[in-house]
Amino acid sequence: MTVTTAAQAAYIVSALLFILSLAGLSKHETARSGVVMGISGMAVALAATIALASQSISGTGAALLAAAMLIGALIGLWRARIVEMTAMPELIALLHSFVGLAAVLVGWNGYLEVADHSGEDGGLTGTLLGIHHAEVFIGVFIGGVTFTGSIVAFLKLSARIKSSPLMLPGRNALNLGALLAFAVLTVVFVMEPHIGLLVAVTALALALGWHLVASIGGGDMPVVVSMLNSYSGWAAAASGFLLDNDLLIVTGALVGSSGAYLSYIMCQAMNRSFLSVIAGGFGVEAPAAASDAEQGEHREVTAEETAELLREASSVIITPGYGMAVAQAQQRVADLTRALREQGVDVRFGIHPVAGRLPGHMNVLLAEANVPYDIVLEMDEINDDFAATSVVLVIGANDTVNPAALEDANSPIAGMPVLRVWEAENVIVFKRSMATGYAGVQNPLFFRENSRMLFGDARARVDDIVNALSAARV
Ligand code: NDP
Repeated sequence: MTVTTAAQAAYIVSALLFILSLAGLSKHETARSGVVMGISGMAVALAATIALASQSISGTGAALLAAAMLIGALIGLWRARIVEMTAMPELIALLHSFVGLAAVLVGWNGYLEVADHSGEDGGLTGTLLGIHHAEVFIGVFIGGVTFTGSIVAFLKLSARIKSSPLMLPGRNALNLGALLAFAVLTVVFVMEPHIGLLVAVTALALALGWHLVASIGGGDMPVVVSMLNSYSGWAAAASGFLLDNDLLIVTGALVGSSGAYLSYIMCQAMNRSFLSVIAGGFGVEAPAAASDAEQGEHREVTAEETAELLREASSVIITPGYGMAVAQAQQRVADLTRALREQGVDVRFGIHPVAGRLPGHMNVLLAEANVPYDIVLEMDEINDDFAATSVVLVIGANDTVNPAALEDANSPIAGMPVLRVWEAENVIVFKRSMATGYAGVQNPLFFRENSRMLFGDARARVDDIVNALSAARV
């Protein structure tokens, strides 16, 4: 068997491992084995690619390639080891930007290589040359949009720039105009390839990617992150066509389509139009300026009073949010859950689909703290139960429990389904101040009759409650 045949066989094995990985990742119970499948698939793919490359490159080329891979792997390992769970989304956005940049470079390389060899024996001609140029142009465009879009997402998610949307006049027309210009330029480039056109489409794609994500408000960022995930997959697939690498095409298509499906699910969860997301239009109307002014008097409660309330409760729902991740309070929340359940209290969790900063963020944290899966419910499964609940503990959540989403048509988060925690008998909100959530909107929940604020770091406050409960038992 030649190296090429063996590598092709290895590519099929790794493509199957990637599919099994996605299947595994779709359920809590099998997620861990899904990750192992993904890592194994990537290891097989890398080994096969290195074996293939070693056939055609010089000793110096191979040494340079090995050095680049080693440096990249070391940086990747180091970043993955030190990254905080709360910084995961921004790291993912940054990694997407690398895929976009790689697609731009592969596209440019594909153009220059063919331009160098035009007319020589074996060079592409006729229809094949046209197809090649279309691949170059589309690859560079998708890569460029992914690159700058992901950079803006990184800057917004890491709070290096404000998450509020950039509202250029006629922004939808600008986006659609850019797409139209891309279509026209593609046709011209395929008929009459010229480096100037490639420069133009690169600049257009970089500007469009920047604008698409800059014009998205904080509340809509989750959908953007999964859309960029999808774009990075299509960018990789485009590179696969240019490099004539079947595995890259298959893997890119898997990432592209699963990312698109995730975006579709998130659009449904967030009550946003999928088509509007793809067109970068989102809310067609500019949302009213976010109001972060306080909306009345809030009342405070102590950890001891909360413990007292919980002791007398028959049912408790905990709705965690980004603040639980910041405070790293999941272990203490699991301890509190155990303590209450031992006293016969019915405790469940209500998870909003965009709680935290990445899809499934809260589920990961709760699983890490060994909270049983069967008491962790999705928003739709639990939303009708709040009215019959004695106490809701809102632990570091804000936008995802904001009644303004349902009651204020002018709110930037209007229309987003939220956990209807305010329907419960008592609501205790754990946070450090009266500051707004990620979308920058004040939350009327905090000023309701049945709400009490428990200020401080969520981990310390949950700790106080657990201690108060156990002190009362002895
Ligand atoms: P928010 O981000 O709306 O609010 C988090 C709250 O936690 C803040 O109000 C903050 O208040 C509080 N907090 C922060 N640190 C602590 C701490 N140490 N102890 C106690 N409280 C703390 O959270 P949600 O989870 O409700 O909403 C998620 C938001 O993020 C949504 O707008 C969503 O659209 C967006 N988003 C989600 C993504 C996803 O995929 N899930 C991706 C990108 C964005 P204070 O400062 O006063 O303590």
